[in-house]
Amino acid sequence: MAKQNKESRCSFCGSGKQDTLMLIEGLDAFICDKCVVQANQLLVQELGSKKSKSLDTSITLLKPLEIKQHIDLYVIGQDDAKKVLSVAVYNHYKRLSQKIDQDEVEIEKSNIMLVGETGTGKTLLAKTIAKILHVPFCICDATVLTEAGYVGEDVESILTRLLQAADYDVASAERGIVYIDEVDKVARKSDNPSITRDVSGEGVQQALLKILEGTVVNVPPQGGRKHPDQKMIPVNTNNILFICGGAFDGIERKIANRLRTQAVGYKVKKDDVDLDLKNLYKYITPQDLKSFGLIPELIGRVPVLTHLNPLDKAALRNILTEPKNSLLRQYVKLFEFEGVKLVFEDEVLDFIVDKAMEYKLGARGLRSICEAIMLDAMFDIPSEPGVKELNITLGYAVEKFEKADFKKLKAA
Ligand code: ADP
Repeated sequence: MAKQNKESRCSFCGSGKQDTLMLIEGLDAFICDKCVVQANQLLVQELGSKKSKSLDTSITLLKPLEIKQHIDLYVIGQDDAKKVLSVAVYNHYKRLSQKIDQDEVEIEKSNIMLVGETGTGKTLLAKTIAKILHVPFCICDATVLTEAGYVGEDVESILTRLLQAADYDVASAERGIVYIDEVDKVARKSDNPSITRDVSGEGVQQALLKILEGTVVNVPPQGGRKHPDQKMIPVNTNNILFICGGAFDGIERKIANRLRTQAVGYKVKKDDVDLDLKNLYKYITPQDLKSFGLIPELIGRVPVLTHLNPLDKAALRNILTEPKNSLLRQYVKLFEFEGVKLVFEDEVLDFIVDKAMEYKLGARGLRSICEAIMLDAMFDIPSEPGVKELNITLGYAVEKFEKADFKKLKAA
């Protein structure tokens, strides 16, 4: 380990102890943290270029149906989005294994836009897909991004995360999946050009364009601008699949307006009359994204647009029990560790779902409600070795739920 006496110097760059964060001692040499990072980058680049030649075979190309079946294990409902995603991902990876000849048809990149209320499973879908494909995956939040040079994170930091997720294996990162959350928050603030620059809105969209379109981007390996002397790693974004997600609050109004103007026009079709007013998201088109404030160039770079449905009671109930790692299964497992058999009565599930609906907490609220109900049991049971079975009845659930701080749940 590091032995840092006064005379110690990095045998590569000559930095003394005071200039480095850490000096690692070898047999009769030292290396500083900066040189370790640089050496690692060199190694990654060298090995990466060798590896990339044999990459094509390392992706198991699942058929769209198989991809969807896998997602079904973890994500409830959202069949439209699952289908669109499965096809897009399948095509994307088919494209990766394509050997491009001069005269061959080149398959274009198919970045994906997921639109749906918060807590309906957008991130979960993206995460699940990355898990199936065994490729590096990272989630970034578009709200922290700003145009280069302003306070906030540069857009390149997205790729830093991906590199980190790939253990700095550039070749592997170059086939990864990036989920950009809350992309609706970088919408243009208003249609009127203003004298002040829109550095967290349109500015970010312009910067995002650069990485979405498939170019070589110089990425700071540690992210941020705090290390101006760090060596940049060139990353080709051509084969990185970008999945953008956002709730696009208020876009329903824009969709409704568009549908209404169409309906009033001369092209009224009979089936137009049966609009599903509770779920206008399903009629979303790129045009609506534009009226929301995304720039057309960005919309063009994310050609696959799909929606997630709001979760109804039945969906919430399924989320509690069905997924491979559903909430209830997690609690059962937790209690199994204590040697206790945990059983939830059916009415309890209905109660949890009703409360989640009542407080408009969606799927995310299910956990807070379950926690409120289970907290006392989780606290007491480990100290009560005699208990072998715990039955959660409706009466027990109601009592614990009412005891919990109701306002806290509402804010969840
Ligand atoms: P979003 O990204 O749309 O805001 P998330 O994917 O983060 O929502 O969902 C939050 C949590 O709610 C997930 O971790 C998951 O436990 C649960 N959840 C939401 N939608 C679903 C779904 N369709 N199937 C299963 N679980 C879901």
